[in-house]
Amino acid sequence: MKLLENKVALVTGASRGIGEAIAVKFAENGANIAFTYLSSDEKAKALEARLQELGVKAKAYKSDAGDFAAAEQLANDVVKEFGTIDICVNNAGISKDNLLLRLTPDQWDDVMAANLKSVYNLTKQVIRPMMKARSGSIINMSSVVGVEGNGGQASYAASKAGIIGFTKSIAQELGSRNIRCNAIAPGFIETDMTHYLKDGGAEKWFEKIPMARFGKPEEVAGVALFLACDMSSYVSGQVINACGAMCT
Ligand code: NAP
Repeated sequence: MKLLENKVALVTGASRGIGEAIAVKFAENGANIAFTYLSSDEKAKALEARLQELGVKAKAYKSDAGDFAAAEQLANDVVKEFGTIDICVNNAGISKDNLLLRLTPDQWDDVMAANLKSVYNLTKQVIRPMMKARSGSIINMSSVVGVEGNGGQASYAASKAGIIGFTKSIAQELGSRNIRCNAIAPGFIETDMTHYLKDGGAEKWFEKIPMARFGKPEEVAGVALFLACDMSSYVSGQVINACGAMCT
């Protein structure tokens, strides 16, 4: 019996990076996968086919995570197609980094919408089928930057810190319904989002990381699998860092 056999997982922002690795890891463990993306049509189509080849049901949805009405439509569509939603991974996110002196209101709003409002938007929808089933696992993608802050990333850090407060509150609010809510705080993970960091040489970043390397998306997916499955059945309201000991 696989860890997520017959479960339905909804993963946002899975056309690339960490979300893609989570979708694949969950499918390898038997889950049927609904996933979203914003603009990468070809990559989404390719992932849908790859997941189906793993023997599970899989469907891609083009849906803007920052749009409340779109989240409502998405959850309705997924329940109609898959029957329920057992696991929700709020992973979609962006960064628009700037020093505060230069940070524009539009940059602030874009990051808040994609990273934080998105988590409110979809969590509010997925708790309906979860309450009906009296079971559910919600996993929110925060960041070590949300735990510790980082100069030049005020909007990103604020959005990721907001996710942590939201996660702890939802865990308390819905614990009695057997709905768990946890956050993952990755450090530097090798994806498009961190690609630019390597331009000046990755080694200078390694000095900050005791494990002396960036993490791989699959290593974050392993934490997500633990939080999604029954192995973590008494774990809720927690933030798990996946950062090579950078933030302890
Ligand atoms: P990525 O490679 O840039 O991928 C981002 C994914 O999110 C893509 O699938 C993208 O879709 C999707 N997306 C972006 N905005 C969206 C929106 N408004 N609606 C729906 N989908 C949207 O990023 P990543 O590095 O995998 O990061 C994934 C999550 O982990 C993010 O929340 C990020 O903040 C967090 N995180 C990353 C790191 C890191 O080092 N990489 C560290 C800590 C936390 P398209 O392909 O269609 O654009």
